[in-house]
Amino acid sequence: MEHVIDEILEGCGLTRANLIYSGGGHCYILLPNSEKVVEYLNDMEERIADFLCRNFNISLFFGCGFHPCSGNSLINVPHEENPYKKIFTELRRVVNSKKNARYTPDQIRLMNSFTNDKNTRECSVCGDEELAGKDLCFWCAFFTKLSPCLRQDNLYVSITKAVSSDMLFIEVPSVGDRKYMVFSNTSPGNSYIRAYVKNKYDRSIKRGIKFLVCDYAYSDLLEDISKDSPGFDKVGVFRGDVDNLGLAFVQGFDDENLARASSFSRRLSVFFKKHVIGILDGTSDFARTSLTKERNLKKKVIVIYAGGDDVFLIGHWLDVIEACVDIKERFREYTSGTLTLSGGLKLVSVKYPLKKSADEVAELEDVAKENTGKNSICVIEPDAVNRFKWEDFKDRVINEKFGCIFDYCDQTKTGNSFLYNLLFFLERSNENINIARYAYLLARQAPDKSSKAFQLYNVFAANMMKWVREDKDRKELITALRIYLYLQRKVEGN
Ligand SMILES: [Zn+2]
Repeated sequence: MEHVIDEILEGCGLTRANLIYSGGGHCYILLPNSEKVVEYLNDMEERIADFLCRNFNISLFFGCGFHPCSGNSLINVPHEENPYKKIFTELRRVVNSKKNARYTPDQIRLMNSFTNDKNTRECSVCGDEELAGKDLCFWCAFFTKLSPCLRQDNLYVSITKAVSSDMLFIEVPSVGDRKYMVFSNTSPGNSYIRAYVKNKYDRSIKRGIKFLVCDYAYSDLLEDISKDSPGFDKVGVFRGDVDNLGLAFVQGFDDENLARASSFSRRLSVFFKKHVIGILDGTSDFARTSLTKERNLKKKVIVIYAGGDDVFLIGHWLDVIEACVDIKERFREYTSGTLTLSGGLKLVSVKYPLKKSADEVAELEDVAKENTGKNSICVIEPDAVNRFKWEDFKDRVINEKFGCIFDYCDQTKTGNSFLYNLLFFLERSNENINIARYAYLLARQAPDKSSKAFQLYNVFAANMMKWVREDKDRKELITALRIYLYLQRKVEGN
């Protein structure tokens, strides 16, 4: 996307001062409304569409639209007609109409010509079809080579017109000469058109552009992350993004103007690309969420993507739960409570394909967004029973109910079979007979009145009886119990 932005800007004789927003695969650019620019944009759009068709078939699509506007419209004059808002509404309409009629007849013919022969098998990473004799498709093989390079502190991504076989590169769409994107951990020399430098300004690089990347990873291997961690050996996958961002972008200010919109979106991106690292690597100072007594400052997670207005994490399930609550809390502070985010969290086995996890967690995220007022998280299963407002998840599920179970069971060394039985009745507690059996189960657990544990038991049992009676409390208690039992599983050897 950064390359596409710079190609458009350079092609129109402009600089990055004309870039209003870029992030999360979107961008807004302020361009002169001349015939030449329109022609160039159409040309560039066709090159990008061709590039995506050839490489990713219908999986990726680039929709580009433009809308002529006056200087007055950009400063929202006349105010009563709200012309500023109309610019973005119209732009969205144009881009959406492109998305609804994606391909030209030529592009459809091109994609059909890629039909594989009979001897094909699936790529072992992404599941796309690839020719026999290979395990990985071109892109998965390329990313396997690229990943170690991306993780290094020094990363230079240069755009060049010539490459050699010892370079790590891909061809990128451009109007005119063929262009390549070259990845390197050393300075790219002089023969480049422009270069991007990861997470720092490097004055030795002419025409260098700093680009922020949230590249936090506890380890390169998920297997390492599950090893020696408490609880059962599943990994947690979290995806979340900002609620109603489009609306905030267009209507977020009393006195809208481009500078504010640009500053707003840039700072949003800085949160996800930069501040998220400090939340995860333990360098930011704040009261962290912790489910167990051991405070794990450096989270055992890998950032798959963080930027624009969204975040996608995978890692040890306990750390992912803690991390997403911390990210949400820091985001609330960062935006002074004016913006919210919603997300989904799922637990899967270490070997589960990432692409499938991503799709399934997106489903949970959708359920979270359907909650009135959004600002929610959906955990484990994509339904309303497993959906909570963030505040409820943090205060009532984790702090109140999980905390109560943890304190009681930890201090009295209560066995898990008792908790499994409680869970069994809780899940069926709409039947009166089961409430009676639930109470009986709790009563059987009572220790001797003279013992130290009796006081603890009293508090625990009173809470358990209170929480079973209210739907809201009960569903929170079920989730808290499940989390506690996940934490105990490896200890018991299940
Ligand atoms: Zn693949």
